[in-house]
Amino acid sequence: MDTTNNEVTVRDVPLLDLKRLDPELEAELQDAFTRVLKSGYFILGPEVEALEEECASYCGAEHAIGVSSGTDALLVALMALGIGAGDEVICPSFTFFATAGCISRTGARPVFVDVLETSFNCDPEDIERKITERTKAIIPVHLYGRCADMDPILELAGRHGIHVIEDAAQAIGAEYNGRRAGSMGEMGCFSFFPTKNLGACGDGGLVTCNDAELAEKIRILRVHGGAPKYHHGVIGGNFRLDALQAALIRPRLRRLDASSLRRAENAAAYTSLLEAAGLTSGASPPLRLPEASPSRHIYNQYTLRCEDGATREALRDFLAANTVASEIYYPVPLHLQGCFSSLGGETGDLPISEKLAGEVLSIPVFAELEEEEVRYVADRVEAFFKES
Ligand SMILES: *Cc1c(COP(=O)(O)O)cnc(C)c1O
Repeated sequence: MDTTNNEVTVRDVPLLDLKRLDPELEAELQDAFTRVLKSGYFILGPEVEALEEECASYCGAEHAIGVSSGTDALLVALMALGIGAGDEVICPSFTFFATAGCISRTGARPVFVDVLETSFNCDPEDIERKITERTKAIIPVHLYGRCADMDPILELAGRHGIHVIEDAAQAIGAEYNGRRAGSMGEMGCFSFFPTKNLGACGDGGLVTCNDAELAEKIRILRVHGGAPKYHHGVIGGNFRLDALQAALIRPRLRRLDASSLRRAENAAAYTSLLEAAGLTSGASPPLRLPEASPSRHIYNQYTLRCEDGATREALRDFLAANTVASEIYYPVPLHLQGCFSSLGGETGDLPISEKLAGEVLSIPVFAELEEEEVRYVADRVEAFFKES
């Protein structure tokens, strides 16, 4: 449907539209598909190796290992460190489920920490408080495409002799003091799920690291722990990446900087339009915008905050009625998820995570958005607060 207001005429604005393909990219994807089809080589192989090299170089890491998903990247990273029953692994409560699900799947116990309101990312002071003699690793998450505050995390991990695995699933190309996501911890875990900044046409993931021995371990775990083939010194899994997915990711990797820049431009436009609308000033503004990041933010999401849950729901409904899609990432903090109830998490334990879960709303920020769509979305957000 067409929606018209004073300034602009736009159609439905989706949260992400993967069908808006640049014709040149589409042709390259078709070529990649044909190339793999005719090669007859479908699992791992030269396409995966080429992608691994390109991603290692892009992320500023020595090694990259293509795997079956971002979830499996986290799982195999934990397995490579020998983490399991009796161990504790610290991660934020305000993140996608996979971060903690993988910890539990190794037999270890996820220990949830709170996040900072300013960055949506791990609070280093809370990490320090939750370290015990059983803590083996920390998984900071670079949520929405903004890097966690890594220096204090790396410092305290070093002091306590704890591993650091970056969950960089939403943050390929994001930076922290000039260093890229995935190059700072012992390992970085990436996802090529289609909604990420670098998406495949299916599932895929990647682990980066700077240690050759660790990289080799991950490569072996990726094929059921067989090294040589059919001789299993360790138990791994099927964590292999398809050649087809690798081939379809490579043309997008070449365009990733341009595409992440477009996202950042859309984010900057929202920020200036919504600030100009006067919704973000005062002691308790009706709307809070994502705070500017000191380093490169890749805006996998542009996430607003409302004063409370009821306003957030009303804004979401108003936007939907005005043909603008939005999404809540994430409505339930992990320490309150049913599957983790045996860990004893209770409401009130991690107040910032709980507060954010009730306030956040992500609006469309993808690279292919038209300028007038960005203006329309901002206009509708403004209209909600001025008309209600
Ligand atoms: C997407 C995501 C994952 C999991 O990646 P998949 O490829 O979907 O398995 C893990 N952590 C975070 C923070 C994510 O956003």
